[in-house]
Amino acid sequence: MIDLRSDTVTRPSEGMLAAMTRAETGDDVWGDDPTVLRLQARLAEEAGKEAGLFFPSGTQSNLAALMAHCARGDEYIVGQAAHTYKYEGGGAAVLGSIQPQPLDNAEDGTIALERIAAAIKPLDDHFARTRLLALENTIGGKVLPAAYVAEATRLAHARGLSTHLDGARVFNAVVASGQSLAALCAGFDSVSICFSKGLGAPVGSVLVGSRAVIDVAHRWRKVLGGGMRQSGVLAAACLYALDHNVARLADDHANAARLAAGLAQIAQVKVMSQATNMVFAQFPQEHCAPLEAWLKERGVLTQMLYASRFVTHLDLSAADIDTFVEAVKAYFAR
Ligand SMILES: *Cc1c(COP(=O)(O)O)cnc(C)c1O
Repeated sequence: MIDLRSDTVTRPSEGMLAAMTRAETGDDVWGDDPTVLRLQARLAEEAGKEAGLFFPSGTQSNLAALMAHCARGDEYIVGQAAHTYKYEGGGAAVLGSIQPQPLDNAEDGTIALERIAAAIKPLDDHFARTRLLALENTIGGKVLPAAYVAEATRLAHARGLSTHLDGARVFNAVVASGQSLAALCAGFDSVSICFSKGLGAPVGSVLVGSRAVIDVAHRWRKVLGGGMRQSGVLAAACLYALDHNVARLADDHANAARLAAGLAQIAQVKVMSQATNMVFAQFPQEHCAPLEAWLKERGVLTQMLYASRFVTHLDLSAADIDTFVEAVKAYFAR
């Protein structure tokens, strides 16, 4: 199947599976799995941070970070469209007793600095204590402007807040912008990075940050049920991804541009945006369900909504993109 629903659908390659099979392991709850330790140290160093911590999912990595920065009755400032706010089941509130203060994201994914400044509450018993600013990069596939990130994190720190980056797809930002991982992580006290998206690993995220933040997150990871044992098998997949699947993200970005250009030729489709490995496009509402079924019969998996998202990844070739575009054309031509 040609699966355009997400970059989470990738399967581990032969080479990755071989690396997993060979992994040296220990009991990571005891802190002695050498492969996990190697992954954590390597990513921390590449990100310019003191320490790293391996998690089973990005949701848990983000949540442990929020809980490391914020205590019960604290709040974090976050975008309305942010994954940590919108797509993680309200975990910060449910499990962390942390109040979100969501603010609108602009078209480019930023949150206006004036809005951030205005949302920081004075120390007063009536208010939750504003403790953290959380941003996301890439967001909706878009790379946040570097100057914006520098200003927003500076503002947060000047007002006594910590900063967290949901960098689930930060390597897409590295490849698209040419900035280093360390440059993209600068200004953030913690950064969560996913390996199960475009990097092609089956499982895993790494949280990087200061030693102090990682130590607290380590305790919350255990409380949240994320302490794993011979997880070097999984970390080996992530190390393999760092060696083999980063530079090739450029192919995914080229395929997303190809997909957007293909859809733009079809009168009934309105391409809204394309950035890194994501394309958003609008289809006439009445065609969404029948088109999704039509594509599925032709071996293409999509989630057709009025505003649909298509995501490219390492299991898709340029020819697969053409197959998809031709199938959409054929549907509207019939
Ligand atoms: C996928 C994703 C996460 C974490 O998701 P998991 O499925 O829990 O690994 C966090 N943030 C963003 C932006 C994501 O896309």
